[in-house]
Amino acid sequence: SGRSEYNLRSPICCIMGHVDTGKTKLLDCIRGTNVQEGEAGGITQQIGATYFPAENIRKRTKELKADANLKVPGLLVIDTPGHESFASLRSRGSGLCDMAILVVDIMHRLERQTVESLNLLKMRNTNFVIALNKVDRLYGWKACDNASIVKAMKQQSRDVQSEFRMRLTQVVTEFKEQGINTELYYKNRDMGKGTFSIVPASAISGEGIPDLLLLLVQWTAKTMAERLTYSNEVQCTVLEVKVVEGHGTTIDVILVNGVLRDGDQIVVCGMQGPIVTSIRSLLTPDAMKELRVKGSYEHHKEIKAVQGIKITAQGLEHAITGTSLYVVGPDDDMEGIKEAVKGDMRSVMSRVDKCGEGVYVQASTLGSLEALLEFLKTPEVNIPVSGIGIGNVHKKDVTIASVMLEKKKEYATILAFDVTIAHDAKELADKVGVKIYTADIIYHLFNQFKAYIDNLKE
Ligand code: GDP
Ligand code: MG
Repeated sequence: SGRSEYNLRSPICCIMGHVDTGKTKLLDCIRGTNVQEGEAGGITQQIGATYFPAENIRKRTKELKADANLKVPGLLVIDTPGHESFASLRSRGSGLCDMAILVVDIMHRLERQTVESLNLLKMRNTNFVIALNKVDRLYGWKACDNASIVKAMKQQSRDVQSEFRMRLTQVVTEFKEQGINTELYYKNRDMGKGTFSIVPASAISGEGIPDLLLLLVQWTAKTMAERLTYSNEVQCTVLEVKVVEGHGTTIDVILVNGVLRDGDQIVVCGMQGPIVTSIRSLLTPDAMKELRVKGSYEHHKEIKAVQGIKITAQGLEHAITGTSLYVVGPDDDMEGIKEAVKGDMRSVMSRVDKCGEGVYVQASTLGSLEALLEFLKTPEVNIPVSGIGIGNVHKKDVTIASVMLEKKKEYATILAFDVTIAHDAKELADKVGVKIYTADIIYHLFNQFKAYIDNLKE
């Protein structure tokens, strides 16, 4: 990926929105067209992310702006599997993503997860652009493959243009109801000053994709020069912990700054404290394979930011996603690094109300736990928490939650987000009368719990 002459790193962007709005298809569209046009050059599918080199983006957007000076070496787009996981994408105390694309289906307008995504973006203070996707579904739309949206719109009949305007107005109104000002991006003079940009697009025929790419790259380079200045100091976030056949437990990371090398001594945050280990191999998906064989990886001696990387090493079984990875340099103080790792955990733990009465909250990652705690604290929800855990629910968690049976029975409850319940934990809970609610959407957990409380009150 390298660095540009401006010494900027590639911006990291994540794609969010309600299910089926076309997040994956948008990424496919950007990748696919380039392959079709024989311009695959350099686009690589990475671990949970896709890297688009500036050269590629320049070609793709030349009709909009010839010889655009992009200033950054490329763009890394993270395809977040669920919008909640965005909360766990953190780096040095703030969001990992420099920018986000919030995808809205023009036919469905704002949906529940659009609003949840908005709240997460606000919480992380992350800037975003809105991709108003599926414009090709407007009745009578004439496809203008990969054209800029202004050009494509000019080719449309009066009826299509007026349907577009009507639907756009509805979307703008719905955003306003959420307290968000929006405007078509090419009319938006207040981007970054409180008005968010809307880019109409189609992930099927590609209209608006050049606009989206150029806007993202130019906007980040223009307004985030400081944040994007490349640093040699390693900045790296654990995205996922996965068991891979032949490699044991591996971690997928996004390297934001610096260089990782084969054999580097690293420290990551674990359930039982800091994990000190050495990088056994640095892997990226095999770029040479057109139809990638699953589990086919390229090995690297060293990798420079920005990249998505799979790391194999010993002792990663209890690594926690959403936390930072540190490299121990020859002059570094190991104890200091361990303290920094522990700090990540402590900052979350310290948020729990120590008054002792409340539910027990269990989540899959540090980030999702934080998101859940923040959600439970909001005035509309307002559910007190007495204990927290990360990872699957075990007997010991049930035992802790059962303490509430004598204090406040309705709080003898575990709210479990995106985790599994061990069989013996379930048995114990049933026996002693601890309720366990599970969900993989935060909102559902709250609804279930609220229904239960309302039931008790009757
Ligand atoms: P995701 O859940 O947000 O990742 O949505 P997908 O990318 O899986 O898309 C959901 C469905 O919408 C699929 O059937 C896509 O083919 C379709 N789709 C996505 N983008 C567009 C678009 O721009 N136009 C049309 N007509 N269909 C689309
Ligand atoms: Mg998808």
